[in-house]
Amino acid sequence: AVNHERQKIDGLTDALTGIANRRLFDHRLREEISHWARHDRPLSCILADIDRFKEINDRHGHGVGDQVLRDVAASLARNLRFGDVLARYGGEEFCLLLPATTAAVAAAIAERMRQGVAELAFGDDRWHVTVSVGLACLEGHFRPAAEDVGAWLVEQADTALYRAKQSGRNKVIVSISA
Ligand code: GH3
Ligand code: MG
Ligand code: MG
Repeated sequence: AVNHERQKIDGLTDALTGIANRRLFDHRLREEISHWARHDRPLSCILADIDRFKEINDRHGHGVGDQVLRDVAASLARNLRFGDVLARYGGEEFCLLLPATTAAVAAAIAERMRQGVAELAFGDDRWHVTVSVGLACLEGHFRPAAEDVGAWLVEQADTALYRAKQSGRNKVIVSISA
């Protein structure tokens, strides 16, 4: 029974960082979307992607890159509240779901996350890493026409993240679609 529990947990957490994996995130996203559809409360989604991470791997090696991923995950996790979900969404990309959180509050949390990562220091010469952050929110009476509202929400955050990359990185962009 213990082994079975262990397997269930292993299937839902990211082995490198110990936070949720995409499978668990997608599961919680479906739950939170159905909750959002039934109750009148906002739902925010944040995507954070490490800036120029390929260069970090190239310059310092893959082992150091892995340590950066662990430290960035731990730094982001410091800003979580009960009920929030933080997941490793892809290689060097993290996704957060913030139930009952308006865009204004989520933007303040996203900005704190961005700053927290920028303050981390690595190696003897104390070099830094940054993240670009995209934020999208379902709030008020707005109802997207999309069939899969969860996928739509993540897409909006991803578009905002893309704009953060395009406009110089190490910044938070809030989607204007909602
Ligand atoms: P950008 O600022 O545009 O996001 O540039 P980037 O270099 O961060 O983005 P790109 O997608 O070009 O590179 C992502 C890199 O992340 C490439 C890949 O080797 C690395 N990566 C993905 N997963 C892991 C991992 O588990 N460990 C390590 N060390 N590197 C990883
Ligand atoms: Mg990147
Ligand atoms: Mg990426």
